[in-house]
Amino acid sequence: MAEAFRDRATPGTVPILISGLAHDRPATDGVKLQVIDDLCVGCSYCLMACKDDALVVEGLCEVIEQNCTDCLLCLLWCPTGALVYA
Ligand code: SF4
Ligand code: SF4
Repeated sequence: MAEAFRDRATPGTVPILISGLAHDRPATDGVKLQVIDDLCVGCSYCLMACKDDALVVEGLCEVIEQNCTDCLLCLLWCPTGALVYA
């Protein structure tokens, strides 16, 4: 599935978003950006949306937690719903 998606994905730059979702940082420890590996197709759209070097995509997406600012721009761009904030 991942290879089929990559073959059909439109190459190019994802437009820069002006702002992310307005939200408060979570009050509960453990609430963070997470990747559902089974849904990730390795398209790197999230990587192009992230301004904080908080993602690595090598086949599957991984979050570098210490860099993540919880802006959720990546989550907005993920076409498969593989990124969740929970
Ligand atoms: S939530 Fe923001 S900072 Fe964190 S990985 Fe996504 S785009 Fe980058
Ligand atoms: S998390 Fe979503 S946007 Fe990022 S590589 Fe996986 S499928 Fe693509």
